[in-house]
Amino acid sequence: MNAATRDDREHAPVVVWFRDDLRVADNPALRAAADSGRPVLCLYVWDVESEGVRPPGGAARWWLHHSLTALAEELDRLGARLTVRRGPAERVVADVLRDSGAGAVFWNRRYGGAERRIDEAIKTAARDGGLEAASFAASLLFEPWTIRTGAGTPFSVYTPFWRACLAAPPPRKPLPAPQELTAADPVDGESIDDLALLPTDPDWAGGLREAWEPGERSARRRLAAFLDEDVARYRDDRDAPGIDATSRLSPHLRWGELSPHQVWHATAEARDRANAEGASTFVSELGWREFAYHTLFAHPELATVNIHREYDSFPWPRLHPAALRAWHQGRTGIPLVDAGMRELWTTGTMHNRVRMVVASFLIKNLLIDWRRGEQWFWDTLVDADPASNPFNWQWVAGSGADAAPYFRVFNPELQRTKFDPHGDYVRRWVPEWDTAGYPEPIVDLAETRRAALAAFDAVKKAR
Ligand code: FAD
Repeated sequence: MNAATRDDREHAPVVVWFRDDLRVADNPALRAAADSGRPVLCLYVWDVESEGVRPPGGAARWWLHHSLTALAEELDRLGARLTVRRGPAERVVADVLRDSGAGAVFWNRRYGGAERRIDEAIKTAARDGGLEAASFAASLLFEPWTIRTGAGTPFSVYTPFWRACLAAPPPRKPLPAPQELTAADPVDGESIDDLALLPTDPDWAGGLREAWEPGERSARRRLAAFLDEDVARYRDDRDAPGIDATSRLSPHLRWGELSPHQVWHATAEARDRANAEGASTFVSELGWREFAYHTLFAHPELATVNIHREYDSFPWPRLHPAALRAWHQGRTGIPLVDAGMRELWTTGTMHNRVRMVVASFLIKNLLIDWRRGEQWFWDTLVDADPASNPFNWQWVAGSGADAAPYFRVFNPELQRTKFDPHGDYVRRWVPEWDTAGYPEPIVDLAETRRAALAAFDAVKKAR
């Protein structure tokens, strides 16, 4: 390279490509771009065309719209702007690098199979073109290739996995947001509205607007409020869906408005003033998020392929569309299931305990393939996550990593009496429960449980 070219490159803009990291604080890619002293071009690519990339569902799109809007405002405050383009990322990033005359592209890593392939191709193309391309660790506390069993393989059981994480060097401290950014000359882009992420006809997002405030600032407020008010009782009350005892941080973490590092360190500080057991239990839930991502890294087809392949021989009966519809609509006649499914439809979330119950009911009482349920959650959850969603569905199905054994069938009625003993949660979502207007159960729980266990024999034989 001659001196003039090197000099150009040293002053050429850096493209920061935002993906699942819609924040300015603790954003290593943005921080590195700011620290380079070069002009910064912030980019978001709406890519639903690249092979293998899973387009976000309806509720997730709603969240993304607001999260991008909040990010654009934050960047604006720092002196930069968010450029939005659509199309396959490989082409779009190359176009933006060319149009902006950039000398470098930085991003924070993703862990899905298709996403890794795309990132690798872009890195190679950029470097072949004489540009700098760098990726950073931002969305996980521990990079998947750093946590291994003694034999050098990924962990398939949670407890030793989390023990290994806790024995590893602790997660780095969060990085402060840049004080200011020098904006690169603008290039063409679309507005966030142009992406048409919001529902319009009809606008079904009223319940989401009531329940949530997407964006980095609101995420930080939520974390602070949880650590001040709720973490002390987290261990005791986290399983009760009628009590607001959990953090409700999952969509903020999903979209990277908050990093797990920020949560980890803020919780460690709070541990001293709060209940230490509550704080440790809470951090171990972050451990499940890590485990889901490490599992995705090891099993890129997590959303479609059973980790334990003997489950491929499970004899799913012919789909009964009316049963699936009743489950979607929360009209199964099983109160806790109906409450959960209606909470999901209205607010874009569902309490974790109830997620397990509705998933078990779909798979083991309705005998419907877990992939149908996973897809519905993908479409309706604001936190629909490429790792945690399929990971947990496979966990309930019995086919996944460290999964609940198939024969352990949740009884939704016992779960209700145990975790919602006064019916607060069920009544909130199913006001007609206990009245003549409430339907009879669409299936007999004991009979369908027996049928599920008989079907499971096929899996045992395939072992
Ligand atoms: P808290 O109890 O406050 O936990 C703190 C954080 O830990 C959460 O925000 C989340 O990031 C993480 N976490 C907690 N439990 C789990 C878990 N079991 N697996 C992975 N991470 C966890 N979570 C998602 O973020 N996205 C999903 O798409 C998703 N799909 C699920 C599907 C099923 C069938 C089940 C059973 C669980 C699913 N979960 C998913 C996990 C869990 O239900 C949610 O993370 C949790 O309910 C979010 O509420 P919270 O933020 O108040 O959690």
